[in-house]
Amino acid sequence: MNTEKTELIANWETLQRIFIRPENDAARTVLVKYMEQILFGLHDFLKAHVGITREASLEALSEQFKESRMGWHPDKKLADVIRGVIETIAPHAVNVASPYFVGHMTSAIPFFMVHLQTIVAALNQNPVKLETSKVVSILERQILAKIHRMIYRRDDGFYDTHIQNPDSTLGVFVADGTVANLTALWVARNTFFSPKEGFEGVEAEGMAAACQAFGYDRCVILVSRLGHYSLRKAGGVLGIGNANVIPIDADSQNRLDLRHLKSTIRALNGDARKTKILAVVGVAGTTETGTVDPLPEIARICRDNAIHFHADAAWGGPTLMSRKYSGLLKGIEQADSVTIDGHKQFYMPMGCGMIYFRDPHMADAIAYHAAYVIRPGSVDLGIRSLEGSRAANSLILGSALEVMGAGGYALLIDHGIDTARAFAEEIRRRPLFELMSPPRLNILTYRLFPEPLRHACETGDPRTRKAALEQADQINILVQRLQREAGNSFVSRTTLKRPGHEDAAVLRAVIMNPLTDIRILREILDEQEEIYRNHPEG
Ligand SMILES: *Cc1c(COP(=O)(O)O)cnc(C)c1O
Repeated sequence: MNTEKTELIANWETLQRIFIRPENDAARTVLVKYMEQILFGLHDFLKAHVGITREASLEALSEQFKESRMGWHPDKKLADVIRGVIETIAPHAVNVASPYFVGHMTSAIPFFMVHLQTIVAALNQNPVKLETSKVVSILERQILAKIHRMIYRRDDGFYDTHIQNPDSTLGVFVADGTVANLTALWVARNTFFSPKEGFEGVEAEGMAAACQAFGYDRCVILVSRLGHYSLRKAGGVLGIGNANVIPIDADSQNRLDLRHLKSTIRALNGDARKTKILAVVGVAGTTETGTVDPLPEIARICRDNAIHFHADAAWGGPTLMSRKYSGLLKGIEQADSVTIDGHKQFYMPMGCGMIYFRDPHMADAIAYHAAYVIRPGSVDLGIRSLEGSRAANSLILGSALEVMGAGGYALLIDHGIDTARAFAEEIRRRPLFELMSPPRLNILTYRLFPEPLRHACETGDPRTRKAALEQADQINILVQRLQREAGNSFVSRTTLKRPGHEDAAVLRAVIMNPLTDIRILREILDEQEEIYRNHPEG
């Protein structure tokens, strides 16, 4: 028997102590000490490795996490639990805050986000209904209006009318970009298949009855093939079918190809299977290449064909705060709905997506009411949202906007785009590399493409060419893996499809950490060159 553990017993007396507020100085000191441990204990971790190293293999780690029974009695004291997380979990987590971690859309966050997140947990408000959030629901409406205004730039009168009107929905806070995209398509679906004589609407009767009532065989959603896979999930969940989320070609600059969009719409309109095009999605900052689809043209096509226009600006949305680069998102103000992620370029902690609507009554198409909460006409924000209970993320975003100002965010956005452009220049300068997609926003892709392989591609017969490209893929796959495992820096890898070209394994860099500068990016390229020199065969 483990004698050490016997003093830790789950009993009523100790249980009660964890629910009361610290009343005396001693209890306060304990609480502060724990917070100190968290804030500063994690500091060391955030200075160590980058990315996923091979130091501890996943196999070895999983050996340590195989107990599936819960302990009846407490295992550890809180202080030991916290120390355990800091000492044994954090070092094997991924140091996404490092300026050398430039592979993903997850990065450093301002230190005050931890404080704001703690306030959200301490208050534990639930904006699903007014009775569990009160002023926080009112605040949430204000923050939604601020972001709506950033996107749609309507006049004072518009916001005076809608900002605190319980019948209006300028936007909704959701879990992430996936749920935001799902919500947009849910609204588009329900708006088209709305109730009419003899039909109670698609939400009540389902897709089969809806198609029958409106005389369609199926409905589809059109998006660039660089669109995010969450849209396919939405197609599945909404009963549209993910095979009916139809990819449209991208042009040589990775933007949705308008000619292919138009010809697809024409073909679908003439299809023997009667087809309703529910929505066209324009991406403002594609996940892989950071490119922006031609939003004004997509808006016009959607208007002409009475199609819902959704802009997926999960990544690129906050670019609108930049005076220098907001023009890159021109046309977004014509979108019927817009997705923006808080946990991406608003630099919030994980778990914040948002969906915005041009027409403040559009979200009525997804309204639900329940007898005990979310009553009609109330300020209950759960009326028009997929999720029920959720965190008061508006407190974080609203406070961050106060601390940083749009101007502060603009500095971050400008730094990301400027640095990505400088990085592209550096890649162009180095003979070993090929820039594959220049940055429109702050994402770019490139690859190692050694001269002999380049040469073989240009002059060789098809078989030589194929072999050379395969070897180039091998080299890039290997260099990315070895760099990641060395643990000094991290870029990600993806497969780039280009019209008229073979698919290519490429390296992908996302520049969002303000501490990532061109000097660091040069070091990353140096390291890749070095790895290549040691493994020239791939
Ligand atoms: C990240 C992203 C999403 C999905 O967002 P999650 O928050 O990861 O669910 C959707 N679309 C685009 C363009 C994205 O970059």
